[in-house]
Amino acid sequence: MADSQILLECREIYKSFDKNKVLQDINLKIKRGEVHALLGQNGAGKSTLVKIITGVYSMDSGQILVDGQPVKMNSPKDSEKAGISIIHQDQQLVPYFDVTRNAFLGSELTGKCGKMDFKKMRSLVQEKLKLIDSDFTADRQISSLSVGQREQAAIVTALLQNPKLLILDEPTASLSNREIEKLFEVIGKLKEEGVTIIYISHHLDEIFRITDSITVLRDSRVQGTFPTGRTDHKEVVSLMIGKELKEFYPKEEVVKGDVVLEVDDLYSGELVRGVSFRLHRGEILGLAGLVGAGRTETMLAMYGVEKIKSGSMKIEGQPFAAKSPLQACKAGIAFIPEDRRNEGIVAQMDIGENLSLSSTRLWAKRGLIDRRRESTFFEDIRKALNIVCTGKKQLVGELSGGNQQKVVIGRWMVGDFKIFVFDQPTTGVDIGAKTEIYKQMVSLAKQGCGIIFISSENEELMGICDRIAVMAKGRIVKEFDAAQVNEQDILYWAAGGEEDNSGKEAEGVG
Ligand code: ADP
Ligand code: MG
Repeated sequence: MADSQILLECREIYKSFDKNKVLQDINLKIKRGEVHALLGQNGAGKSTLVKIITGVYSMDSGQILVDGQPVKMNSPKDSEKAGISIIHQDQQLVPYFDVTRNAFLGSELTGKCGKMDFKKMRSLVQEKLKLIDSDFTADRQISSLSVGQREQAAIVTALLQNPKLLILDEPTASLSNREIEKLFEVIGKLKEEGVTIIYISHHLDEIFRITDSITVLRDSRVQGTFPTGRTDHKEVVSLMIGKELKEFYPKEEVVKGDVVLEVDDLYSGELVRGVSFRLHRGEILGLAGLVGAGRTETMLAMYGVEKIKSGSMKIEGQPFAAKSPLQACKAGIAFIPEDRRNEGIVAQMDIGENLSLSSTRLWAKRGLIDRRRESTFFEDIRKALNIVCTGKKQLVGELSGGNQQKVVIGRWMVGDFKIFVFDQPTTGVDIGAKTEIYKQMVSLAKQGCGIIFISSENEELMGICDRIAVMAKGRIVKEFDAAQVNEQDILYWAAGGEEDNSGKEAEGVG
């Protein structure tokens, strides 16, 4: 019996590329008006499935129904006719065309004598730009747009078909946080307009924020579909990786050593207002908090980037205040920054070159770089972090986000660092690579380093840290033993909660 709530249904879809069974027995129902997440690790088959839905690939067997009616998707035109538009994972726009020309590429509107009707096309594009509240015009050249604006240009192109269903295949892979927020606004607007959305991503925090349902794919099969409100990170991650979370977080007991870093009443800029904490050797200290709590800024002050107004720091008992990152480096602090695209890597350089960027001087013998040592280092790092690449000469820009991040981290694995600061190292990284990054932190802790781990995913802090310090409004407002804390407590304090001393159950403030 047809269910009028269901816009799109996939029934028993199978697809192989040669011997590689990519999709098996895929059953999926997309409800009218919902944002439905398709989740799965790299290679799970997400893109293949949506390419089948949009007629880019043909399936080996199975059925697609739109509004309860079977539809043959022999080409992208068929899916457009059925009201389905897609923005592909690797969708390219022509940089030297404007937004309008891009939007109508290959399907230009023409007037009476076959001349292109630019005026009409432009006004249609303008209308869609307005719908999603974009801040640029239809005649802007693509090359002059930011990555986020290009994403909007692609969405506008898809909207020209007035689709009932819009599919976004990993739209946020290369967007900044601000651009992601804008995209979410756009998705919200489209939802209000009644557009149904399939959203592919491996960023769980996003998925939990903006979707109504979640379908997890693994090993070519659907592992389950859930209303977003009735599942959680734990369940979804376990399904994605096919393991219990214990295996996902390679935590090990490490004996806590001496205090390696002391920070007392540190003030810097507007966002750091009296931060105090201790870090021990062998310890992974999580820094939880909301955006703007001052976590990164505190680290930047420690690292000699932001000026310190007042307060004191000691490394192994010695007073310390870096005036530059170089001084901080020499004092033994490694800082793996948040935004690897801007601060971390040089996409146009190869892996070998990127790895040696911060450590070249270590291999220089009388000014010459010791290529043999550099090669050994590359092999060590590749093994330790399991970097998936063709070799030392591959350009970093060609690697997946997770592997790029491993290169950024790898760069700091040489040298005499006592303290490692990881600022949101797993952002935009697939689940397999996350585990490798956690392993690396644990391994550094075992070597006696102190680790500071900034993250907005409390789940991973709870999974890998020994202690969690919550920052709010420029201070550390609460510290927890990571094994004892629950997520609500972290959120409560991050959101500016206060110690409740009035109730009978209030515990002693320690
Ligand atoms: P996801 O989008 O979930 O990362 P994909 O659908 O891109 O996964 O890929 C699933 C599997 O199908 C991978 O093993 C990939 O190598 C394979 N695959 C995808 N497209 C092709 C293709 N055109 N030819 C051969 N194999 C492909
Ligand atoms: Mg994909």
